Amino acid sequence: MELKRLAVPAVTALLVLATGCTGATVQGRPGASGVRDPLFPRAGNGGYQVEHYALDLAYDPADGQLHGTAVITARAEQGLSSFNLDLSGLKVEGVDVQGAGARFNRTGTELTVRPAKDLKKGEVFRTTVDYGGRPKPVVDPDGSREGWITTGDGAVAVGEPVGSMGWFPGNHHPSDKASYDVTVTVPDGYEAVSNGQLRSRREVGDGRTEFAWHSPEPMASYLATVAIGKFKVTTGRTPSGVAVYDAVAPGEAAGSEAALKRLPEIVEWGGAKFGPYPFGTAGSIVMPARTLAYALETQTKPVYSGAPDELLVLHELAHQWFGNSVSPKTWKDMWLNEGFATYAEWLWSEDHGGVSAQRRFEAFLAGDTSVDDQAGGDWAAFPPAVPAGPDHVSDAPVYYRGAMVLHRIRQEVGDERFFDLLRGWAADHRYGNASTEDFTAYAERRTGHDLKKVWDVWLYGQGRPKA
Ligand SMILES: [Zn+2]
Repeated sequence: MELKRLAVPAVTALLVLATGCTGATVQGRPGASGVRDPLFPRAGNGGYQVEHYALDLAYDPADGQLHGTAVITARAEQGLSSFNLDLSGLKVEGVDVQGAGARFNRTGTELTVRPAKDLKKGEVFRTTVDYGGRPKPVVDPDGSREGWITTGDGAVAVGEPVGSMGWFPGNHHPSDKASYDVTVTVPDGYEAVSNGQLRSRREVGDGRTEFAWHSPEPMASYLATVAIGKFKVTTGRTPSGVAVYDAVAPGEAAGSEAALKRLPEIVEWGGAKFGPYPFGTAGSIVMPARTLAYALETQTKPVYSGAPDELLVLHELAHQWFGNSVSPKTWKDMWLNEGFATYAEWLWSEDHGGVSAQRRFEAFLAGDTSVDDQAGGDWAAFPPAVPAGPDHVSDAPVYYRGAMVLHRIRQEVGDERFFDLLRGWAADHRYGNASTEDFTAYAERRTGHDLKKVWDVWLYGQGRPKA
């Protein structure tokens, strides 16, 4: 890999290494600059897997300046002479690898790092990136905005599919999951919220408060979040003991109350339907209305733009099993997130005196989606396992036809085997990644049914299924 503009390296350290190195020479080669995702080919990087991110961030809502230190612990999957991180905007002030200054250059959203000494296959190595500036939103192929989004008096970070590169350097593809520690320092009077558990909150002087958040379970980087604002915070526990932390913009508190009051019950309902809730904590972050055009299932604490209703809370919580614990291998597998979360809404509805999933399926099949006021767009426009492109990954078929695939399986195998399949899928792929092909093979094995027709017509088939 050609390194064009080299930052000034720690010259003395390099010289010491060059002359002081004994033993066999390690011959590394550059890690790939993308993981060849079929929809987002430049997302992520090859040659290593991250084990842990420690992000130390300072943000001042008054001037919008973010300063960050990212310490990334990763394992080399090949000998590496250089490797890439994804980072959009912001200024990189320095990079070191294993404590020694590393050379780096930037091209587009690729940050290429060349360690002083090649990394060996299997070596666990630590990269520290100092960076800062005013983060800008990342605009997706479908026009939606993600990354670091500012509000009147704060900010929120959302990353699906590639927005996380707008606020920290990393291996930004769902196939690389890691644990996280996110520490955020903000002016006194602000709350800073992230995924997982609040380990400490302390005043650090100079009128600033530091919040330290810890996420021990593996997380895809698009599910990482930070929210800064003057939130109203409430904490509690679900009946089975999952810690709940809700941070709500004061103007949305009244409107959110009814839905968030049901959050513990929804977590328990999901546990009964899909198997144990996969994480140690649950909760929500409610941003001022119109902060975003969507809600996102950020791990353990979904982000809502304005007060959510009960079904939206249910949808984002269902993603904790489907999408967050079991994550897609590539963005083409998005229906494994959205089809499942949509079907969870159908199940919740039929369990709580609403229309049954069967009735909803029949109505959709007959072209009547009025039963679902969110169901804009044509569910039959393309098969959910083959999204038409990166700008269609959040279109109706991925959600509604995805849910209909699950209902077709239920029709074929009956309730007992179907719910056993949902629980088995969540348990056997817990904290991992899975593809559509993994799912279809698993479904046939688990239920003992040949489901080829369902896949051919509903999952992969062009045109509008008739039954
Ligand atoms: Zn969703």
